[in-house]
Amino acid sequence: MTFIPLPAFNDNYIWITHNREQKHIWVVDPGDAEVVDSYCKQNACRVAGILITHHHKDHIGGVKTLVDNYDCEVFGPRHLAPEVISRPLEEGDCVTVDGEELLVLATPGHTLDHLCYVGQSSDTPFILCGDTLFRGGCGRLFEGSPAQMLQSLTRLRQLPGDTLVYGTHEYTLANYRFARAIDPDNVALQNSEQQAARLRANHTPTLPSTIAVEQQTNPFLRFDVASVVRGAAELLGEAPASDLIGAFAQIRRAKDGF
Ligand SMILES: [Zn+2]
Repeated sequence: MTFIPLPAFNDNYIWITHNREQKHIWVVDPGDAEVVDSYCKQNACRVAGILITHHHKDHIGGVKTLVDNYDCEVFGPRHLAPEVISRPLEEGDCVTVDGEELLVLATPGHTLDHLCYVGQSSDTPFILCGDTLFRGGCGRLFEGSPAQMLQSLTRLRQLPGDTLVYGTHEYTLANYRFARAIDPDNVALQNSEQQAARLRANHTPTLPSTIAVEQQTNPFLRFDVASVVRGAAELLGEAPASDLIGAFAQIRRAKDGF
């Protein structure tokens, strides 16, 4: 299954999958209807369905217009039904998108309602992870606790290494500046940052990433690496936490103040 990024707002990507035979697209988190509408007009296709990861406006702002225009189903967090969502989902549910089964993971942390969608049946596994996991970073904890986000990211970290990671923001270079500050000796991180900088110089998205790259370079998946926790604690002027939740919380707070 191939995803195409439609840039929206300053740094969002609305990921779509385009079935050219059926002349339709599926859309993930359409914060802006206009971007999706233009794509449909230019490519003579319609919206067959929408997946929502969480309730933030830059992820659902375009839903109503697209439903009015295309009369499509909208899958997502249960509490948004019926105003935004027509097909409520929760942990363990499956959604079929163009013959591909996507497994729903509940990943609270950034928000309490956050869902991720994992595709496992095509050649390359993938995850549509909204604002839970970014290349080199993770979503801010607006609603959930560090313990919740740690558990959510631990589940993502355990996915197969070749899983493609489709996050919704182009935050990569800023994330890597922070990552390098607390993990300065990480060669994989340095290499990934250079590759991302080359992509951005050409105005190319740095996404998708892979779980393997994130395992090696993303400080929010490296909460159990002593040197990373020490680096975050130093930025905060604190002693390194001795437990994983405390360590994760230190990394998150260090980034929030970076
Ligand atoms: Zn969000």
